[in-house]
Amino acid sequence: MSALLSADDLNDFISPGVACIKPVQELPAPTPKPTELEIQVQTEDVTPTKLSPAQISLADCLACSGCITSAEEVLVAQHSHKELLKALNEHDNERIFVASISHQARASLALAYNIDVIQLDQLLINFLKKIGFTYIVGTSLGRELSLITESNSMIHRKQQQFEGPVLSSICPGWVLYAEKTHPYIIPRLSQVKSPQQITGCILKNLTQRELSISRDKIYHLTIMPCFDKKLESARPELDGTVDVDCVLTPREVVALIDELQYDMMSGELHKDINEVYRINAPKKWPFLEYSWGNNQGSASGGYAYTYLQLYQQHLIETEKYDQNNFEIKTINGRNSDIYELKLLYNDTQIASAAIVNGFKNIQNLVRKLKPGSTKAKPVIARRRARGTAATPSTVSEVDPSKCDYVEIMACPSGCINGGGQISPPEGIPEKDWIVRALSKYNSISMNDIPINQLLEWSEKFVQLSSMDHQRVFEAKFNQMEKITDPNVAMFGAKW
Ligand code: SF4
Ligand code: SF4
Repeated sequence: MSALLSADDLNDFISPGVACIKPVQELPAPTPKPTELEIQVQTEDVTPTKLSPAQISLADCLACSGCITSAEEVLVAQHSHKELLKALNEHDNERIFVASISHQARASLALAYNIDVIQLDQLLINFLKKIGFTYIVGTSLGRELSLITESNSMIHRKQQQFEGPVLSSICPGWVLYAEKTHPYIIPRLSQVKSPQQITGCILKNLTQRELSISRDKIYHLTIMPCFDKKLESARPELDGTVDVDCVLTPREVVALIDELQYDMMSGELHKDINEVYRINAPKKWPFLEYSWGNNQGSASGGYAYTYLQLYQQHLIETEKYDQNNFEIKTINGRNSDIYELKLLYNDTQIASAAIVNGFKNIQNLVRKLKPGSTKAKPVIARRRARGTAATPSTVSEVDPSKCDYVEIMACPSGCINGGGQISPPEGIPEKDWIVRALSKYNSISMNDIPINQLLEWSEKFVQLSSMDHQRVFEAKFNQMEKITDPNVAMFGAKW
């Protein structure tokens, strides 16, 4: 879906979906109170009243059972660099503009400009400051909190002898697909919010407190690797407020820079990058030295790896396991987009997680998880029954449906290959370009935020923000109605 779609392709998909379930709401025009009854007979031709065009908002499209391409078109219009410019010009005296930038987007832009990620950070911050942004942060704090919350909930489930797998929900492309086409999967979805949403909540809140302004005066831009993140930002929050106002992809950032004829390379480079991060964050932004750092594991955030790592840590701290006897072993699957990580203690598996990227692999997994389906393929099942299952580290051993946890990403290769990342220049094969982007991503220094201190900070944050834990950290997913009546689809409307 998103990895294949770009804003440039959208001309191919200009009509709204035939299964659009949103009713056209016409607000009645105020009618003057009648004083006398008067009947008029019209003899001329009657001109039909023109209805005003239906307005479908980005949030409406989340209720969609129909097209994905029209949804993308609507959201591109609402979250575009032109809309951002409009907001900057219209409201520059009233609103405070803040931004957060994801790791994958930084890697993609650094690759496109052929510079280090650290240089890119500085130049991009310079640019955003110039066009009116007050604060700019990395998404590391939100990501770290998302990773820890996810892992802790897995450790808790593990202690309750739960039946897996739990499926990650930080990829909105995958979540939307599950909601529309495989509702039986929804109870398995993790309810932990993504780094984008947690960062947005914290950034708006700290800015609001620091500048003593109302929340709705803060405009939050995120720079993310895909268009799907725009849909995620439009999911309604419990209290009706919005944490992210605009999502731009690296491609759209380049379009913005080009439109303003800004010379990215003209910006000044500060010697101390940590000082740059510090002066551009809200004063109370915690763990500043780690606020742009990276995590181990996949280039989608490392959710599967972090779960195993924190589970290992938990066993060392609470059950006195010996650190030296642990090993995290990678078992490769049929293709590079499916693999399993096993946490071994004295060579015995005690926990497992899988990475599943791309819709082809996702479809295989959801089929296996369908109630009533037999999980293992007959040939493998027979082998297992005979006790002749293939030797360790072979393909047949990789079965995400049997893991505790699965990190699922809609894009092949995960978020580093999001649909909004910069495309390769002519002559460079796509695969090579992804490898180069990955190398930029891996050049970002690792995070080492002290977990207990971070959890302490987040508890205090929740108390001071007068929001509850659920509002800050939990997402909600629902089944979306799918149109099955061909007549409804034929007439292009359900109502
Ligand atoms: S609600 Fe669905 S069908 Fe209607 S315009 Fe939005 S994406 Fe398309
Ligand atoms: S895998 Fe990552 S980049 Fe791709 S749609 Fe999902 S969140 Fe976006």
